[in-house]
Amino acid sequence: MEDNRKKVAVIGGGITGLAAAFYLQKQTGQPVDVTLIEASSRLGGKIQTVKKDGFIIERGPDSFLERKTSAARLAKEAGLDHLLTNNATGKSYVLVGEKLHSMPEGSVMGVPTKVSPFVTSGLFSLPGKVRASADFLLPKSKPKADQSLGQFFRRRLGDEVVENLIEPLLSGIYAGDIDNLSLMATFPNFYHAEQKHRSLVRGMKKMTPSSKQPAPREQKKGIFLTLTGGLESLVEGIESKLLPGSVLKNTSVNRIVRQPDGRYFLHLSNGNIMEADSVVSTVPHTILPDMLPDYDFFDVFRNMTATSVATVAMAFPASAVKENFDGTGFVVSRNSDYTITACTWTHKKWPHTTPDGKVLLRCYVGRANDEAVVDLPDAELERIVMNDLNRMMDITGKPDFTIISRWHEAMPQYMVGHKERLAAVSEYMVNELPGLYIAGSSFNGLGIPDCIDQGENAVEKVLYYLRT
Ligand code: FAD
Repeated sequence: MEDNRKKVAVIGGGITGLAAAFYLQKQTGQPVDVTLIEASSRLGGKIQTVKKDGFIIERGPDSFLERKTSAARLAKEAGLDHLLTNNATGKSYVLVGEKLHSMPEGSVMGVPTKVSPFVTSGLFSLPGKVRASADFLLPKSKPKADQSLGQFFRRRLGDEVVENLIEPLLSGIYAGDIDNLSLMATFPNFYHAEQKHRSLVRGMKKMTPSSKQPAPREQKKGIFLTLTGGLESLVEGIESKLLPGSVLKNTSVNRIVRQPDGRYFLHLSNGNIMEADSVVSTVPHTILPDMLPDYDFFDVFRNMTATSVATVAMAFPASAVKENFDGTGFVVSRNSDYTITACTWTHKKWPHTTPDGKVLLRCYVGRANDEAVVDLPDAELERIVMNDLNRMMDITGKPDFTIISRWHEAMPQYMVGHKERLAAVSEYMVNELPGLYIAGSSFNGLGIPDCIDQGENAVEKVLYYLRT
């Protein structure tokens, strides 16, 4: 009887694979045996938390957008609702040249939804503001399958708004070059706003609920969520709900071979072959061409780059940091002569992470066309970050400790045409690899909720495939 149960293999134990395995086991409609296979000794992938001397330090992501509901829902379903917490609100800044400028109120990813904060902002010159206001007059662009974020925003708002605000914000998310990143694969809502309302600013104003109704005072909480035990407690919570024996760690899938009967043989690094009726692969795109060498349509992923980044978290006694800004952090314009690309004043944004009397700063380095910095020796990286910080903050002495986390080829770059390329691969897969699905940050969004959505979506496809 046992043998009639369908077998599903989930490859990769990052948040996408965890969500897929969790929801496959949770569903009661179809009995399936699920195995989650993870190459490393731990689950969570890029989600990694370090606890040290009373600090909670994230090596990778530190939070997720509450508006995208799947992550909070997953946390609740894993019994972790009591750990969810919003960020403390506060000013955020953009560093342009040598000056920190407050982020203009009402900007959505740098696109104004309120005019007066832009008009009064010191971030832009008068000609820059005049050029941005052309958005109200310009016709909408001709419908296009895709274009770069840079091309789109430069046309609507001009170069200065792009360089001083939009680029630093967007490259903070994608660590990419906005003149190559795909508009339709990242923020299609901006394109639709322009197409529907002609003016991007007017369109975003109409499409942004908060600009219609001011939030009541008591609702003024941050837009991000994390877990008070660190994001890794989400990983641990999900792992604890997975059935005993359903997780295989320290095991890579080297190759997947489809059998004539439609089943899949997974060749594992321990020499075993695992059989599966259906497979969800959540590994980065860079792995797919070698894992499925018989299918040359995956070669398209060989040309898809992924940027390397590093986070540098530094703990200080509060007395060591003299210039104490009122805010939660800043992003850096690429035209500024700085190596760091962003800095979170973590002790302010996430007070639960830092003991009283201490300061926790977390800086990012590495972006498209500036990745070599990621591999500098620890001492050199720490020196560069300290120099950058000291240009705007007066920090005396060395940090109590520094935690450097390097993430090689970690930020997949959705270049112009990404969606079309993905659609072509999906079509090939439907015909040549039925029952095998790909999900995760390389494909349809790299935020944690986007990854969870993709994991859930893959579960639906697996169950449908196994039923029919
Ligand atoms: P991964 O986490 O990369 O998991 C893939 C897993 O597959 C890994 O565990 C890997 O070991 C395993 N694997 C690889 N090859 C094989 C194989 N052959 N066999 C078996 N297993 C294999 N997102 C947010 O929402 N908010 C943030 O604040 C945020 N900040 C970020 C900061 C940094 C520094 C980085 C790097 C990312 C950040 N992100 C953030 C993005 C987000 O963290 C990732 O996109 C997401 O965690 C990726 O999840 P994943 O499951 O797709 O992939």
